[in-house]
Amino acid sequence: MADGRPLYVARPDLPPLQDLLPALEELWQSRILSNEGRYHDEFEAALASYLGVDHVSLVTNATSGLLLALLQAGLTGQVITTPFSFVGTSHALRLAGLEPVFADIDPISLNLNPESAAEAVTSATSALLPVHIFGRACDTAALDNLAEQHDLKLIYDAAHAFAVNDKGGSVLRHGDMSVLSFHATKVFNTFEGGAVISNNAMTKAAVDELRNFGIIDEVTVSRVGMNAKMNEFCAAVGLLQLVHIDDNIAKRGIVDARYRELLANIEGVSCLPAMSAQTQNHYSFPVLVDAGARYSRDELYNKLQKQGVHARRYFYPLISALPMYRHLPSARPENLPVAHDIAARILCLPMFPDLTADEQERVAGIIADAAIGAV
Ligand SMILES: *Cc1c(COP(=O)(O)O)cnc(C)c1O
Repeated sequence: MADGRPLYVARPDLPPLQDLLPALEELWQSRILSNEGRYHDEFEAALASYLGVDHVSLVTNATSGLLLALLQAGLTGQVITTPFSFVGTSHALRLAGLEPVFADIDPISLNLNPESAAEAVTSATSALLPVHIFGRACDTAALDNLAEQHDLKLIYDAAHAFAVNDKGGSVLRHGDMSVLSFHATKVFNTFEGGAVISNNAMTKAAVDELRNFGIIDEVTVSRVGMNAKMNEFCAAVGLLQLVHIDDNIAKRGIVDARYRELLANIEGVSCLPAMSAQTQNHYSFPVLVDAGARYSRDELYNKLQKQGVHARRYFYPLISALPMYRHLPSARPENLPVAHDIAARILCLPMFPDLTADEQERVAGIIADAAIGAV
């Protein structure tokens, strides 16, 4: 069996427990546990400042954030999206009564290919829902153009894109709305949580209403909304997490660089090229098993698993291959050749700030053994 601790693909970051205790004391005293309390409002403001965006609405998780954004955008019919994502992306469309239309991805960024998206536009299209996958920013300029050209709403699933910037600032400023996830496995977590970033004050106000049943005041309810309010505990955790996030991202950067060094001379696997003109958050460390490698992706996955290294095949199967989506005309594999190729070859290695050099050597050693047929 394996030496050392089992290695999972992600390991949630937490603030020191003693830093949380004063906030807990105050919560216990005040009995204000939710509904835009003190920690909620402080965290919302701190996040806007940290991310460099104006309009942040905290929510319970990214899935409800996506749903709120889709509802607020007033969409109908079809929405063009990527099959290479977590299933929550398309589920949000379905839950909002919309039809996902899948378009192929770019082989370098692994994000929705703007040209494929353009080919998928019909008279029934009302929006685009791209994803900044693994914190690799989409071709926002091309997607902005496409949305403008056809008068489409543009909502980004930015679940992976915490603290990702391009030359002009946060990637979250693009489109009508962007939705972050603060789930335990993401780069920045509040146990569960998320945020909708709006590009104007009116949209933020509407999202804020929608997340609280459409309630305006004691006697006024503006519209049908849901409950997606972040509670005070999660907000207090979020404030404390912000203190350490730059440090954690820097540590992820060191892990990333070490993997690249360790894997550089191993036959059969390739690291993804870093995206130029973007800051990275090192959300994940995906590798691609080369088409001609002596081992398949699944063989490598199993070898790692046996040695206590729980790599993950993100994102396999594609969303478009799942039972509730595969009947759609756009889900045909011929329509999505790049997405199918990547989904068959990708493997995400353990990536978290305190992954040690020894542990990374252990991972690379298993891959190196597979390359020479030793295990
Ligand atoms: C995690 C994730 C979601 C869902 O986020 P939750 O906060 O868990 O609801 C949506 N989209 C993508 C791409 C994700 O990785």
